[in-house]
Amino acid sequence: MTSARPQRVCVLGATGSVGVNTLDVISRHPDRFEVAALSGHRNIERLAQQVRDFQPARVVVADNDARQQLLARIGSGSTEVLVGEAALADIAATDDVDVVMAAIVGSAGLTSALAAARAGKRLLLANKESLVVAGDLLMRAVAESGAELLPIDSEHNAIFQCLPSDHRRQGVASVLLTASGGPFLNTPAEQLATVTPAQAVAHPNWSMGAKISVDSASLMNKGLELIEACWLFGLTPDDVEVVIHPESIIHSMVRYIDGSVIAQLGTPDMRTPIAFGLGYPDRIASGSAPLAFDPSLSLNFDQPDRDRFPCLRLAEQAIAAGGTLPAVLNAANEVSVAAFLDGRLSFTDLARINEAVMGRIGSTAVESVEQLLAIDQQARHAAEAVIEARRV
Ligand code: NAD
Ligand code: MG
Repeated sequence: MTSARPQRVCVLGATGSVGVNTLDVISRHPDRFEVAALSGHRNIERLAQQVRDFQPARVVVADNDARQQLLARIGSGSTEVLVGEAALADIAATDDVDVVMAAIVGSAGLTSALAAARAGKRLLLANKESLVVAGDLLMRAVAESGAELLPIDSEHNAIFQCLPSDHRRQGVASVLLTASGGPFLNTPAEQLATVTPAQAVAHPNWSMGAKISVDSASLMNKGLELIEACWLFGLTPDDVEVVIHPESIIHSMVRYIDGSVIAQLGTPDMRTPIAFGLGYPDRIASGSAPLAFDPSLSLNFDQPDRDRFPCLRLAEQAIAAGGTLPAVLNAANEVSVAAFLDGRLSFTDLARINEAVMGRIGSTAVESVEQLLAIDQQARHAAEAVIEARRV
């Protein structure tokens, strides 16, 4: 229990997997948190229920159509319903908000995450794509405004917990980024071309949105997370070892020069890192089941197979080249994953499309968020063109 006034939370992407888990944790601590603002894109049914449950002052939806649908369900009560990307940035930066959960999927979450960073908020960052696209600008905005950036991605949250708390990094040898390996960990290479979207989104350990589930299956998620870790913790790719750990019990580790390895463990449940971020530096209950140390618990490890899962290598190439190449890769991947989910591409085409777009657009130095958003659009168009060219 705390005697301070409740923290006012804005949940961007409230209707998604991370958003729903965030509201679940918040609802367990009515004395600590109140929901000031929510955003949902087009899942109006769920958003309407969230508005009824949490009574936020402001809500943002995709467009006027979605606004009318929402108003028809919630009536003209005390919740203001706004529209569009600029409104997302507004609700993230307003003085009426203390904490912003950035849980929109894809580079669509960049401008609102950046707005929260510039406004000096406590920023709970689930939206890894914003760091992949604009890590330099986002980290600089955090440093300049005095915002507090807490990683919500489970691996990065684990690394944050395992690093020295004084942030000097003294004695750190490397970071071990764990990966479940996804549903195709043991699928032979020749079968990967024919796996279906339904198989790809059926993650063995985590229940997540469709895009990140496909990324987990292709190991692109681990590639994006490698880039995310480099920005968050000031690392180079050589400082990070990717380790396959199929059970997703160890969420990541830090290796020290004295031989110690510190790991963070827990049942795979996003409410744990979310509660960590919301409560920090306090520990608060999350609703996740306690980890049972019994004979059913086994921990296995392996090396990632970059030949069967070339997306990991593409991400390594992108961060090594630097500049705008990670933004190009991210945009190409958002388009190729959507095309795979639509049945327009095979699973093994994902890496081919991503690589072709990286080759077409190449890399330049990062100048501004406007430049990055323009490159994001350019790479999306290139990806659509490459996909289209393969169909004829
Ligand atoms: P999701 O697809 O379940 O939800 C996405 C949310 O973003 C929804 O609220 C949707 O309405 C909103 N949205 C979608 N497109 C939008 C757009 N163009 N503009 C504004 N809003 C839009 O996704 P998720 O699984 O909750 O993942 C969200 C983010 O968190 C992703 O960046 C993902 O990589 C990251 N993440 C998720 C998990 C997880 O367990 N799901 C774990 C770690 C990191
Ligand atoms: Mg993760």
